[in-house]
Amino acid sequence: MRHIAIIGSGPAGYYTAEAAQKLWGDEVRVDIFDMLPVPYGLIRTGVAPDHQSIKGVSNRYESTNALDNVRFVGNVMIGEDISVAELQGLYDAVVLATGAPNDRPAGIAGEGLENVFGSAAFVGWYNGHPQFAKLNPDLSGRHAVVIGNGNVALDVARILTKTSGEFTGSDIVGHALHALAKSGIEHVTILGRRGPHQIAMTPKELGELGHLERAAPRVDPADLPDEADDAFLEPGQRKSVTHLRSFAGIPEAFRAEKPVEIEFDFFASPKAILGEGRVSGVEVERTRLDANGRADGTGESYVVPASLVVTCIGYKSSPIPGVPFEESAGRFANVDGRILPGLYCVGWARRGPSGTIGTNRPDGFSVVERIAEDIGLGSAKQGRAGFDTLAAERKLDVVTFRDWKKIEEAEVGRARDGAPREKFVDVDEMIRARKD
Ligand code: NAP
Repeated sequence: MRHIAIIGSGPAGYYTAEAAQKLWGDEVRVDIFDMLPVPYGLIRTGVAPDHQSIKGVSNRYESTNALDNVRFVGNVMIGEDISVAELQGLYDAVVLATGAPNDRPAGIAGEGLENVFGSAAFVGWYNGHPQFAKLNPDLSGRHAVVIGNGNVALDVARILTKTSGEFTGSDIVGHALHALAKSGIEHVTILGRRGPHQIAMTPKELGELGHLERAAPRVDPADLPDEADDAFLEPGQRKSVTHLRSFAGIPEAFRAEKPVEIEFDFFASPKAILGEGRVSGVEVERTRLDANGRADGTGESYVVPASLVVTCIGYKSSPIPGVPFEESAGRFANVDGRILPGLYCVGWARRGPSGTIGTNRPDGFSVVERIAEDIGLGSAKQGRAGFDTLAAERKLDVVTFRDWKKIEEAEVGRARDGAPREKFVDVDEMIRARKD
């Protein structure tokens, strides 16, 4: 028998469990731990609430849970309730699938001002992550600045500008829907330190900005490179740039019907966030690309007004004491997913925060291959029986998959009309729903 512990129940964790299940069938036992009483990590609290088709991938993870050889072990905080070293004593392999839950700081003055948030916090707020549910951003001002040119920046800009009606069918949490309905934001500036050819935005997500009910995107035609140069882009990127070109061509008459503008400010590198106590603007330096395609400051600077700033410039993993970590890359130090004997990482904890949900599938399968090479037929470790004994001794209030289904049923039961669920945003509420 092989005993595997996976820490983190997001996509990387579940794809790893699926791979182990496929490879070893009844000859493996996998425990998937999560600090929250609810599974699916990024699918639940990262993927945008109006992207329900992406969230549907959790059905696949649910079927991984259908067999007894994989179980969900929720409400267990690794490092507090049980250490990684203890898990290593119990399981043949421990896999860190902890994602990259922390915001990468921009490293500029003013990041600590009021109403300046990183995207982990802001996305967590509108997605009901218990850690950020009480963020309470002030949306009463007129001007939001979103820093970064990736898909998260697009998510944030879109969520900030949608009407309540456009959230029909989404699982945006009630507190965010309510706050957004009263929002005064009329202008969202998306700051990109490089140009249209360097965006990290995918075409489908970028195209959505062209179909919003009350908001229209604006791109300055002068920022667009020569159209002939689009031919050198890979096809996905070319499609994204085509969207930017079409945004640049939106007629003013069309804009006049849209009270909200989403402005792309390219070649604009944030230098400082300004304000006294609370944010009032972002100081930006105009850039040009150097020979290596990097942003090079021109010395020309200006201020973009801002009553709210959200930095969407990437994430980093949380280090764990005793586990080698690559600070600059924000992930665990590893070779092909191997960290130390018996200790592995997968997904964003292995690669850093890049790629789509699906990128984690081959990642999970590849780390299971490495584990198979290392552990062979497994050992006489105690696995889940050992964990259960320890959990009983420590009086841990473990949440099982069956418990989660009860929580889910309660969330579905209290959904507003047309919504798939109304999430609990508080751990105690989740636990209570499991017991009701
Ligand atoms: P990302 O794709 O890495 O984009 C980060 C952006 O921040 C880049 O434009 C980067 O510019 C910019 N940036 C970094 N440091 C900066 C700084 N100091 N000042 C100004 N700009 C800075 O990260 P992300 O948007 O957080 O997305 C993370 C991953 O999740 C990506 O793989 C993304 O595709 C994925 N995701 C997918 C979806 C979806 O498919 N619907 C939705 C959300 C997220 P440079 O290029 O100049 O470094």
